[in-house]
Amino acid sequence: MRVQRKQRTIARSVSISGYGYWSGKDVNVEFRPAAAATGIVFVRSDLPKPARIAAVVTNRIETPRRTTLTSRGVSVEMVEHILAALAGLQIDNCEVWVDRPEMPGCDGSAMPFVETLDRAGVTVQDETRTQLVVKEITRLGNDDSWIEARPAPTPGLTVRFRVDYGPSSSIGRQTIQIPITPEVFRRDLAASRTFLLKEEAEWLLAQGLGTRASLKDLLVFDADGPVDNELRYQDECVRHKVLDFVGDMALGGCDLVGHFVAHRSGHRLNAELVKVLLAECEKIEGKRKSA
Ligand SMILES: [Zn+2]
Repeated sequence: MRVQRKQRTIARSVSISGYGYWSGKDVNVEFRPAAAATGIVFVRSDLPKPARIAAVVTNRIETPRRTTLTSRGVSVEMVEHILAALAGLQIDNCEVWVDRPEMPGCDGSAMPFVETLDRAGVTVQDETRTQLVVKEITRLGNDDSWIEARPAPTPGLTVRFRVDYGPSSSIGRQTIQIPITPEVFRRDLAASRTFLLKEEAEWLLAQGLGTRASLKDLLVFDADGPVDNELRYQDECVRHKVLDFVGDMALGGCDLVGHFVAHRSGHRLNAELVKVLLAECEKIEGKRKSA
């Protein structure tokens, strides 16, 4: 028998402000406690009637370089690092009230959200958290980029991730294998930042996007390494890919028990795997204390 943990929410409301990388617009985010079995729900407060958008994989739509959720014609964008922070800290139930469609980019990592959530503290709830246990190998992708879920030799979730930008890139090849727990997430993953190649950053600026963020605010790599920036970890890029993976897996709405291996995977492939696992795997539902 695998031990299921109790669901968790935050102990009180906490807020963070910033601006969206893409829109350049100021945005306020308020995390609020939510009842057991609510899941993560974004609430757009800037509309005449607040609109709720559940953070579930069926609400995800494909947009370039960011994760967008949409429900009944209302969207929230760049939600991936907020989702990663919540999932990384095992905060299962939370309302995320926002007054713009695009979430703040902050420093490109999940750490500003982790620090905000840490100020709230955690409340353990009576109901147990649903688990999804990987029992068979499931693989998606092609030779260039793939992701595989395998049965876990130990309880919990572990990830082995590889990025490979080729021998001529200053990012090169980076591999990490890491168990995903709140302690590990906070210490080893949350501070890793979004990264771009210099050509990509220049192209985005030329499109008029990201004009408020300068090259100094983002982790941009040229042939020699990061431009005007210091790395927080020697292998910061692959750590950020794992951070993104944690946020993408949050769209499953349950704890994953398995060993995941990813080679140059990204948001789209990660989300496709969540869909397949939800359809194929055994789920151990959360129970109420009295049941
Ligand atoms: Zn990211």
